[in-house]
Amino acid sequence: MKLLSADAYVEGVRSGDRAVLARAITLVESGHPRHQSLAQEVLTRLLPFTGGSRRVGISGVPGVGKSTFIDALGMHLVGEGRRVAVLAIDPSSTISGGSILGDKTRMARLSRETAAYIRPSPSSGTLGGVARKTRETLLLCEAAGFDVVLVETVGVGQSETVVADMVDFYLVLMLAGAGDELQGIKRGILEVADMLAINKADGDNLPRAERARSELRAALHLMRPGHEPVVTTCSAIEGTGVASLWSALEARVAQSVTSGALEQRRRAQQVGWMWAMVQDGLRAALHANPTVAALVPVLETEVREGRSTPTSAALRVLGAFLPESRA
Ligand code: GDP
Repeated sequence: MKLLSADAYVEGVRSGDRAVLARAITLVESGHPRHQSLAQEVLTRLLPFTGGSRRVGISGVPGVGKSTFIDALGMHLVGEGRRVAVLAIDPSSTISGGSILGDKTRMARLSRETAAYIRPSPSSGTLGGVARKTRETLLLCEAAGFDVVLVETVGVGQSETVVADMVDFYLVLMLAGAGDELQGIKRGILEVADMLAINKADGDNLPRAERARSELRAALHLMRPGHEPVVTTCSAIEGTGVASLWSALEARVAQSVTSGALEQRRRAQQVGWMWAMVQDGLRAALHANPTVAALVPVLETEVREGRSTPTSAALRVLGAFLPESRA
């Protein structure tokens, strides 16, 4: 990779130069130690220019209509004169190299807009590593002057929690299903969602979507009294409900700015972020440690065959990794 100077990255990103922004993101995504230290220098210098965007997470199962929805929402925002960045976290691409979010042309209209910037998910690394890259990319986009950053993910693995931990507002897209609306939805998601939108509320599906909305509202009233997420319907394909969804989102965010909840959320995210990095670093160092690497197959066999207890084996791994602490 041909590197620029730190000054050139900082100035290019600040002036909204898309080519430099793309190169800065590539730098942040690189695992090379020299790239990492340059990336950290650039990020530190850009930090004073971050924090100004509306950070919104959007998730939902494959086929729910995420790309259609983001295309419609993005076009609405661009129409209002805003600049929109779309980032993605796709855990499937880090595990299997395949991707659920897909390589097909997504967000066909938005991708042609000069006020929009769409960046696909980093395609290698652990979920923790991908989260770091996306988080730092989000900061770069803010420094580049984007007003809204949409972070998209699929409803698999831990990716929703990862996204919820980096945004101001978390929107979950759903489909009206038959019967119990909570069936098949991960409970955890209902606990972190700030808004649930039942998509494909169009044509014959409209009454079902409306019914699903009232059922969900009632269920959430019981589950999270006093902290109910907004429940709404939309049709990404027809574009109906998208503008009012955004107004409701803005209203909620404005409330949390006034109450101080947003500031608190962001501060807690920063601290959580620090610890996630520490834990990732420890895990990586543990696995890279040659003494540990030599010990692990032996201990795994002993534990599997019942010759060592898991606890004593764990203590030996820790003792090899942290000899001074003798856990
Ligand atoms: P993703 O996998 O969540 O990104 O979903 P897509 O945006 O690719 O949409 C999956 C399918 O659902 C596509 O065939 C879309 O045309 C269709 N779709 C998306 N939104 C709507 C909608 O609001 N109404 C209807 N009827 N179909 C939709």
